[in-house]
Amino acid sequence: MNRRMAVDPVYRCIECNEESGELYKDYKHGVLKITICKSCLKPVDKYIEYDPVIILINAMLCKAQVYRHVLFNTSINIHGKLCIFCLLCEAYTRWLQLPGSSSITDPGDIIRYAKEWDFYRLFGIALLEQSVYLSGIFTVLSLARLKTLRSRSDFALLLKALLLSSYGKLFLVPAIIWEHDYTHLCLKLITLFVLMSNTQAIRVTLNVSRKLSFLSILGGLLFENALFYIQQKFQDV
Ligand SMILES: [Zn+2]
Repeated sequence: MNRRMAVDPVYRCIECNEESGELYKDYKHGVLKITICKSCLKPVDKYIEYDPVIILINAMLCKAQVYRHVLFNTSINIHGKLCIFCLLCEAYTRWLQLPGSSSITDPGDIIRYAKEWDFYRLFGIALLEQSVYLSGIFTVLSLARLKTLRSRSDFALLLKALLLSSYGKLFLVPAIIWEHDYTHLCLKLITLFVLMSNTQAIRVTLNVSRKLSFLSILGGLLFENALFYIQQKFQDV
């Protein structure tokens, strides 16, 4: 069972978001019973018994219950590493799309070319765009004056949720390596999937409406496009 060991842990019911003091009761001698939520009368977190693969498939279907399970009822702490890995995938995808890079067929060349200046420049741009995108989201949500977004830990949890829910960017690399007629469409669909996943993460973390969650993502995209426009202006000068 995937569980968080802490003093006075506060978990959340994955169905109704109600707080719960425990996920299961231990009756000793290996007898465990999943806690039932007092509010909705459903298991607080059925996913503690599920296989990680099933959880991942449910996450890919953007189910709010899985997001609550991961964010509130587990101690997964890979968002920092995942963020860097996603940025590397993004930079590598963009680098491959540069003129002259597509002719590389030898996998051994990847390491050699990764050392090129262009790759690091694109990584820097991806990092900057990601920061600006997140700033846009936080700005919109701050303007909404949410009760659930007041303390530093609320911001930290939202940041963690956004970084974790951007895992779809990992699919960018296989999509572009296995090049075919629909590669461009695949890249667009991956971007759309990441945006949907981010929207769901905001909704679940802050318990806000779909509308506000969608608006904050729109704010993030607006900030990111403004940065792109400024970049273009600088290149033209
Ligand atoms: Zn409940």
